[in-house]
Amino acid sequence: TYEGNYDSFITYYDDSIREKLLREHMITNAMKRAVDEKQFVIYYQPKFDLNSECVIGAEALVRWKHPEFGFLSPGEFIPIFEKNGFISELDYYVWDCVCQKIASWVETGHSLMPISVNVSRVDLYNPKLPQLLFDLINKYKIPIQYLHLEITESAYTDNAKQMIDIVNEIRKIGFVIEMDDFGTGYSSLNMLSDLPIEILKLDMSFLRNNVGRSSGRSVIQFVINLAKWLGLFVVAEGVETQEQAIFLRNMGCDYAQGYYYSKPVDDSDFEKLLLETHLCVMI
Ligand code: C2E
Ligand code: MG
Ligand code: MG
Ligand code: MG
Repeated sequence: TYEGNYDSFITYYDDSIREKLLREHMITNAMKRAVDEKQFVIYYQPKFDLNSECVIGAEALVRWKHPEFGFLSPGEFIPIFEKNGFISELDYYVWDCVCQKIASWVETGHSLMPISVNVSRVDLYNPKLPQLLFDLINKYKIPIQYLHLEITESAYTDNAKQMIDIVNEIRKIGFVIEMDDFGTGYSSLNMLSDLPIEILKLDMSFLRNNVGRSSGRSVIQFVINLAKWLGLFVVAEGVETQEQAIFLRNMGCDYAQGYYYSKPVDDSDFEKLLLETHLCVMI
């Protein structure tokens, strides 16, 4: 620890970097077997209609249960996988599992609603992505409207033209595209006109920082109005209290996702939840 001594500060700094690198190394080594050993599991977090309070869809979120290191958070391993390239393999694995699940739900007459999967910014620069997704829904013979794709603002960078073409191709095939984490990047407004988005997901930090102040509330109202004006549906992420839900509903926000309604749950709990909760006609 730092004790007013420059040397010990350096040591402390080195230690924390070393620890981070060691952990990254550990994760990189462990990931190779993780898919085969079924250590990655998928949780589902329902999205609710703010007015009727019924479920209109859900987001699939990956979890890593390592036999030795325990539960690892996507916030930690996804950025590492985006650096070392493994993310494409993991994402494809997640999409495949989700499609298989949807197919089983269609078969058992369980529920018919869209499940959104996350698509890394790395995937969005792969020209084979549209075909890959198309093949996937054909493989499981699921109607295309049941698989939504969440893409993030951060994908829209340097070489955006290539990514814009790929996303447009995916939209042309018929997939619904959701813009994830909206409000955290810098290029938000150009992106809205460049990309064929149908649903805007307001990032939870955006909500956290703004609800308390009147100027902040105006910003949220503006973004919701803008989305409406562009003909987009709006989902608020990270809704934790009834106050937030009421606030968002009054602002004209359509849907919400967050702990107030439900945490992400495993597939069997999700199926139970579907049986108990009222389902709406989907978007
Ligand atoms: P995201 O796509 O924005 O997902 C929403 C995150 O917010 C999830 O974190 C979810 O558990 C969390 N969350 C939901 N409601 C609340 C709430 O009321 N309060 C708070 N504090 N948090 C809430 P999670 O599951 O840890 O995932 C983190 C991020 O990791 C995701 O953010 C997404 O960017 C990424 N991710 C997760 N699964 C995948 C995947 O299969 N592929 C890719 N490429 N990325 C994934
Ligand atoms: Mg997401
Ligand atoms: Mg999100
Ligand atoms: Mg987010």
